[in-house]
Amino acid sequence: MDCVFCKIINGEIPNKKIYEDDIVLAFLDINPDSFGHTLIIPKKHYQDLADIDNDTLLHIMNVAKKLMLKMQDKLNCDGLTLIQNNGLIQEVKHFHLHLKPFYKNKKDKNLEEAYLLLK
Ligand code: 5GP
Ligand code: ZN
Repeated sequence: MDCVFCKIINGEIPNKKIYEDDIVLAFLDINPDSFGHTLIIPKKHYQDLADIDNDTLLHIMNVAKKLMLKMQDKLNCDGLTLIQNNGLIQEVKHFHLHLKPFYKNKKDKNLEEAYLLLK
């Protein structure tokens, strides 16, 4: 299947990994909307919210919670937005949850710097 996120899971495309277990992988978004913008994806290919099974979905939310605490600690963010796109607005058709840290003061979106703090 020609899926960019399956290729990331298979190691065909490099990624800045910040969390991994048997079910999910979390890595920095290549084109971040904010400093530390992260994606959590299931290792198994599910297209979207309609497709994904509830156990995996719940696991993803638990990982989001864990990573939020890490972002508060390591990035000193002032908030966090979770986004999950479906349908026409979804660019990559492999389920993913966006974690976008929010900062009250403008912060540079440097990928390498965020990676050093979160890896
Ligand atoms: P969507 O609109 O599907 O919710 O967002 C897809 C996200 O995946 C975008 O924010 C985009 O920057 C990110 N993305 C697309 N291709 C890659 C990639 O090869 N590596 C990484 N790290 N992120 C990607
Ligand atoms: Zn996939």
